[in-house]
Amino acid sequence: MLDLTFTAPQPKVISGAKADWELVIGLEVHAQVASNAKLFSGASTSFGAEPNANVAFVDAAMPGMLPVVNEFCVAQAVRTGLGLKAQINLRSAFDRKNYFYPDLPQGYQISQLYHPIVGEGEVIVDMGPGIARRVRIERIHLEQDAGKSIHDMDPNMSFVDLNRTGVALMEIVSRPDIRGPEEAAAYVAKLRQILRYLGTCDGNMQNGNLRADVNVSVCKPGQYEKYQATQDFSHLGTRCEIKNMNSLRFIQAAIDYEARRQIAILEDGGSIVQETRLYDPDKGETRSMRSKEEAHDYRYFPDPDLLPLEIEQAWVDDIAATMPELPDARKARYMGDFGLTDYDASVLTAEKENAVFFEAVATGRDGKTAANWVINELFGRLNKEGLGIAESPVSAAQLGGVLDLIGSGEISGKMAKDLFEILWTEGGEPAEIAAARGMKQVTDTGAIEAAVDEIIAANPAQVEKARANAKLAGWFTGQVLKATGGKANPAVVNEMVARKLGL
Ligand code: ADP
Ligand code: MG
Repeated sequence: MLDLTFTAPQPKVISGAKADWELVIGLEVHAQVASNAKLFSGASTSFGAEPNANVAFVDAAMPGMLPVVNEFCVAQAVRTGLGLKAQINLRSAFDRKNYFYPDLPQGYQISQLYHPIVGEGEVIVDMGPGIARRVRIERIHLEQDAGKSIHDMDPNMSFVDLNRTGVALMEIVSRPDIRGPEEAAAYVAKLRQILRYLGTCDGNMQNGNLRADVNVSVCKPGQYEKYQATQDFSHLGTRCEIKNMNSLRFIQAAIDYEARRQIAILEDGGSIVQETRLYDPDKGETRSMRSKEEAHDYRYFPDPDLLPLEIEQAWVDDIAATMPELPDARKARYMGDFGLTDYDASVLTAEKENAVFFEAVATGRDGKTAANWVINELFGRLNKEGLGIAESPVSAAQLGGVLDLIGSGEISGKMAKDLFEILWTEGGEPAEIAAARGMKQVTDTGAIEAAVDEIIAANPAQVEKARANAKLAGWFTGQVLKATGGKANPAVVNEMVARKLGL
């Protein structure tokens, strides 16, 4: 396991005009369940389909239609819960949350208020090499997404697209353990990474498949510690909730703005009204959307169309038996088995596909060299050309072939870069290309020796200098490499120059 030091919360402190204030943040993340079909219907969830192409009678709320729970979506929620080391509730239940929306034909959303499928868990948030924070998860529940109203296509009419209506969401609710904008972004990033490793959500924030409601409050120093000791929320300030954030950058900007807005009101003798707000990225401000609604406003009640959801421990155990290796475990393994630094291991495990590629290159070879090549040459080049790992022109086998030629001393580092370039543009088999193009480092000591002798004989003054100051021996190495057209193995040359000069 990863050797981590857990730090106490490092609250972001904002100095107001009158006092210092600390931030307290809790997130409700809506993650679209990776599933081909919706939560209660067989309609497709494919993104970018023609409007209203993916709508079953249940999604359109035709009279008399009955929801049937999708077992796969339930399994995905359980898998997510296991990945967050959470309590799995063998008995959960669906409730109706009643409200009117043109893009919600039922007139209610089916959700799980009182008995969620997943209980308490945690996310370990990375805050720097070897440093982590533990953010508690309160619950994960399953619910339906709504459709989309479109108001900007026609001056006189609005349109409704129900493709998203009824798609399964997991709402992942954190405790208010997050203490600043950077921590909030790091939390979402880590959660996204875990979900992608699990395969339970694709984490595509641009498409809205992962979005967060961000709850922010401010308090005086010392108050949070009282909350922690008692779990009594009255020690904390009143929160506002910023809805539907789908960018890490905007999440941070919104938190900062919102905290300063609240501080200004409090220092002015006012009080915070609990409400739902929206962030406007163009103005960099949050503004009020609606006052805070309570559970009774929605007249929640158990959905009479759905029996309580009962799952068996054996089924949960089956899912547990197929859990993939998660990011922290993978990172620890790379640091242990391949001797990588925390930083390199983090870069390589950030995306599972990248990690799989690296591992194919590194297995049976020198891990650090493999990491350098994958991070610097390959990722550097992919980034430059805007490509993902799946589109890499150089495969793991090809890169491995290059490393083998370096490892055996057949080619120099410089030649390897040329070879990589050829593989990138033309493809081919590394050893064959190296042979065909005469890329061969001279390790034949006879040939090198002749060059060394020649240069020493021709430069007596330099020899004197190098004998007086060993650092100047490098000049001879340079000359020999030049004379041999860069093909001599520098290590061999160095060693020989030193010996011949009697250093
Ligand atoms: P609701 O559905 O009313 O928004 P939830 O319990 O689902 O309520 O979510 C509340 C969220 O707000 C949780 O993430 C919780 O951690 C967070 N939260 C609660 N109190 C505070 C507070 N004082 N400051 C910041 N966040 C808070
Ligand atoms: Mg909420």
